[in-house]
Amino acid sequence: MKHVIIGGVAGGATAAARIRRIDEFAEIIILEKGKYISYANCGLPYYIGGIIESRDELFLQTPASFGKRFNVDVRVENTVVGIDTDGKTLTIQRADGNKYTETYDKLLLSPGASPVKPPLEGIDSDGIFTLRDVPDTDRIKNYLNTHTIQKVVVVGAGFIGLEMAENLHHAGAEISIVEMANQVMAPVDFSIAAHVHQHLLHKGVKLFLEQTVERFKQKDGEIHVCLKSGKIIPADMVLLSIGVRPETSLAKIAGMKIGETGGIWVNAYLETSAKDVYAVGDAIEYPHPLTGKPWLNYLANPANRQGRLVADNMVKGNAEKYEGAIGTAIAKVFDLTVATTGLPAKRLKQLNIPYQISNTHSGSHAGYYPGGTPMSIKLTFDPVTGKLYGAQGVGQEGVDKRIDQIALLIKSGGSVFDLTKVEHCYAPPFSSAKDPIAIAGYTASNVVTGQMPIVTWREMQAANPEEVTILDVRTKEETKYGKIEGSLNIPVDDLRERLDEIPKDKPVYVYCAVGLRGYLALKILTQRGFSKVKNLSGGYKTFSMATEPIINK
Ligand code: FAD
Repeated sequence: MKHVIIGGVAGGATAAARIRRIDEFAEIIILEKGKYISYANCGLPYYIGGIIESRDELFLQTPASFGKRFNVDVRVENTVVGIDTDGKTLTIQRADGNKYTETYDKLLLSPGASPVKPPLEGIDSDGIFTLRDVPDTDRIKNYLNTHTIQKVVVVGAGFIGLEMAENLHHAGAEISIVEMANQVMAPVDFSIAAHVHQHLLHKGVKLFLEQTVERFKQKDGEIHVCLKSGKIIPADMVLLSIGVRPETSLAKIAGMKIGETGGIWVNAYLETSAKDVYAVGDAIEYPHPLTGKPWLNYLANPANRQGRLVADNMVKGNAEKYEGAIGTAIAKVFDLTVATTGLPAKRLKQLNIPYQISNTHSGSHAGYYPGGTPMSIKLTFDPVTGKLYGAQGVGQEGVDKRIDQIALLIKSGGSVFDLTKVEHCYAPPFSSAKDPIAIAGYTASNVVTGQMPIVTWREMQAANPEEVTILDVRTKEETKYGKIEGSLNIPVDDLRERLDEIPKDKPVYVYCAVGLRGYLALKILTQRGFSKVKNLSGGYKTFSMATEPIINK
């Protein structure tokens, strides 16, 4: 059997190695347009910033070492330019421009995605870069080494844009980030992104949200990044990171079906509409397990998982179905860790799926053991059954393991009640006897069972103190550091004695610092004759973070 693979990085290299493990005698060819295969594209920003010092560290395998270990015919600088799915042949162009044909029995497409580069005036100027592969990395690194780079503008605040912002800051540049949306990191909700906004400002990064680049202009040895608002940001270098789109050109030429979101359509076995042609990775769309709707998911874990699974299907005949990815992602943004899995509230809203949210704040480990850091978790779930839809976390230590545990539960159809059943390993340096995700689970369970009706920070912001009593149950001391406009302060410990200060004919929105004392106050009030009491989810911490203005230093 002759297996030919187009693209030799995440999905392609994984598939080739797996095919070899299950069939020692198959013929395997990798056709890769670039000079490298199986390299660490996720590590590129860290090499640019100097955190990864040696370029060699990026290369997990050379074409020769991979070829020898797995007995694979690796052909780098061989670009596939045509596929004849009836005749099962490929047209391939070598670096010298010469073309040749190759046959296949089974073909795999893992061509990845390409960066979006809108046709803006001046976009091809010197000093404006995108980052996708090793040649892009070399160009950026070379530019940094040969120019004095003091000011960098990063256009687009997705995960890669923010990683690049951090790394170029680490390399000594002053960073401005321009983002069209009202928040960074599109896959998380605004209240979680708000932590990142304040952290970036704290690190001296300038943040221009809801701003669109109109054109680039070379002036006095600088690049002027001209925004639609009229603002001009001068830069020595610009990094464009405004997204990627699936690489579907070959599939289109070959007449394969392209799905509704623009990725290569595949069935549950990851086989395209052309017989014996499979596709994986950034180039495909696949139904989201929670919505059933196709979506594009540009992440390394699914590409690797699909590469392994598709190898089995190519060798053994369609043997295993792919379960789909829910979008579990993480990024380090300076000292913060931001992670997400499943569906955020904004996506659920777009899809008209009824949902509820819950915000909690915990310590990464026991408060009495030194070194713990705060962690915020937001859950999204079905308001009636508690079925988990998604989770987002922001903090420093241990955010990754919490989001990973929740991802596992979401993928197995778990609910907020299941979160309370997770058995955590615990000792003070690692966690608390009630782990942050147990706290998140208990809190969300109270919301689902009606024990604790909540208001979101947005509902609290919109509340009119004439119509609603906004009750702050923190201590008087705490109110000195900020409070919600129009709130009445009665500390929770004085509440029973001061009930007559709270009107009974209006709803009461209670809040405290993070939500716990608010919950206690809610229980006191509801059992003492107040009928419409709600607690602010995540307390003043969530509210103040989400409503904090963006002020560039
Ligand atoms: P790729 O790994 O991109 O491989 C596609 C290969 O196909 C390329 O080498 C390309 O040259 C080749 N190719 C394309 N067309 C042809 C053709 N016609 N002929 C021959 N060869 C062709 N994901 C995470 O989950 N976490 C991260 O931290 C993370 N960080 C990232 C950082 C950066 C800078 C980048 C660029 C990506 C990052 N990703 C991250 C995304 C992750 O790398 C991708 O999701 C993953 O590599 C996709 O695998 P793939 O096999 O589909 O495509």
